[in-house]
Amino acid sequence: MFKKILIANRGDVALRVLRACQDMGIATVAVHSTADTDAMHVRLADESVCIGEAASAQSYLNIPALISAATITGAEAIHPGVGFLSENADFAGVVAAHGLTFIGPRIEHITAMGDKVEAKRTAAKAGLPLVPGSEGAIADLDEARKTADKIGYPVLIKAASGGGGRGMKVANSQDDLAEAFSSARSEAKAAFGDDTVYLERYLDNPRHIEIQVIADAHGNVAHLGERECSVQRRHQKLLEEAPSPALTPKERAEIGKIAAEATRAMGYLGLGTMEFLYEDGGFFFIEMNTRLQVEHPITEAITGIDLVVEQINIASGAPLSFTQDEVRFNGHAIECRINAEHPTSFLPTPGTVKDFHAPGGPGVRVDSFLYSGYRIPSDYDSLIAKIIVHGDTRAHCLARLTRALDETIITPMPTSLDLHRLLVRDADIASGAYSIRWLEENFLPNQQND
Ligand code: ADP
Repeated sequence: MFKKILIANRGDVALRVLRACQDMGIATVAVHSTADTDAMHVRLADESVCIGEAASAQSYLNIPALISAATITGAEAIHPGVGFLSENADFAGVVAAHGLTFIGPRIEHITAMGDKVEAKRTAAKAGLPLVPGSEGAIADLDEARKTADKIGYPVLIKAASGGGGRGMKVANSQDDLAEAFSSARSEAKAAFGDDTVYLERYLDNPRHIEIQVIADAHGNVAHLGERECSVQRRHQKLLEEAPSPALTPKERAEIGKIAAEATRAMGYLGLGTMEFLYEDGGFFFIEMNTRLQVEHPITEAITGIDLVVEQINIASGAPLSFTQDEVRFNGHAIECRINAEHPTSFLPTPGTVKDFHAPGGPGVRVDSFLYSGYRIPSDYDSLIAKIIVHGDTRAHCLARLTRALDETIITPMPTSLDLHRLLVRDADIASGAYSIRWLEENFLPNQQND
C-alpha cells in the first residue's frame, strides 16, 4: 500500500480523498493555488504545496507543478479527484513516466472515453445499447443533413470532447440544422479547443440513469447499482438519488449485468460510470466517465462501500474487497448539490461566508469545505457543499432530507439551497415522476436552453 498520496484537486473532492487516506493510515499532500491558501483541504492535509496562481491553467491544471510537488514531497501516487485533470490521459501518462501511480483507470480507457465518438464505438463493441445517431464524427452540414434525415428529427448535435453539458445544440427540423450545427461547433471549439461534433437522436422525455462499475487488476468486476440524475438544469445535475424511482427490480438487475459485462469486455480497471438515457423501458448509452463522480456518496450510502478506499486499493494492486454477490442494496439515498449561485438565474455568487451551519443527525452526511469566515473564490466551480441523506425507504429519506435542508445555514450569499427546499416539498419529486426536462419546465420556465 502507498505511504503517501498527493491529491491533485481542491474543494469537497480533495477533502473526500484526504478523508479516505486518513482512514487508511496514508499520509497526504495537498496542493493549492494562491487563491486557496486558506482552504480546508490545505488545513487538514499532512503537507501542502502551492502550485501556482489562482487561474486553474496555472495551478490545478499545471502538470509540471503537480509532478514537482509529488517528487519533492515523496508521494508515491496521485489521486486526481473530479474535474481538472481527472480524465486527462496525458496527465496519467506523465504521472506514470515519473514512476508514480495514477489512481484511476488505464490510459487507453481514459483516451477512448474522453472522445465521445470513440466512446460510443467502444461501448457498442462491448455490447451496450446506444442512442441512435451518426456512426462517427460529422464532417460538414451536408453529412449532418443526411444523417438527421435518416435518424429523424429532433436531433442533438454534440461535441466529441464535450463535458459539463456544453457544446450541445438541438435542431427540431431541417430549418434549424445549419444554425445548430455551426453554433455547436463554435461552442465546442471555444470550450474544448476541438470542434469535432456528432449527431444523436434527441430523446423526448428521457431520464438520466447511470450505473457505477468497478474492476480490479485480478479480473474481479462488479456493478454497484444505478443513480438517477434526471433533476438537471442546463444538462447539469442538481439532485441525485439511488435507487432510481423509475426502475423495476428486473430492469435494475438487467442493466447492472449488461454494464458489468461491458466493463469486463473492455478490460477496464478501477472506478467508472456508464451514463444512459432511459425512455419507455429502454436504455441508451451516452457516455462513460472514467473517474469518481460528484454523486458517488449516494452509492456509498446504499451499499456501505467506500468507493475512494476501493479506488486506492485497486491502484495499489489489491483486489476488490467484495464480490458482486456480496453487494447488498440498503434503503434509499439522495444528494443535493449546493452551489454558490443564484437559485434560478444560476449566476455565481462567490464571496465571504458569514455563517455556516451544517445539518446533522441520523442518516445525514455533509461533504463540504465551507467554514464561517471562508472566502469562496470566484475562480472555480460553484459547488460548495453536498448534503447526502440516507433513509430506510424513499419517503423516509425525503423526510430526513427536508429537515436536513431546513437545518442548513449559509449566509449571506444566495445558494441553490432555496431551490432544493422547494424541490424536496414538490409532489412530482415525492412521487418520482420527473424526467431530465422536468426542472426547467416546472421551476425555470423562462430558462430552457439547448
Ligand atoms: P456532458 O458530458 O456534457 O455532461 P452528456 O452526453 O453526459 O454530456 O449529456 C448530458 C445531459 O444532456 C444528459 O444527462 C441529458 O440530460 C442530455 N442529453 C444528452 N444526450 C441526449 C439525447 N440524445 N437526447 C436528449 N437529451 C440528451
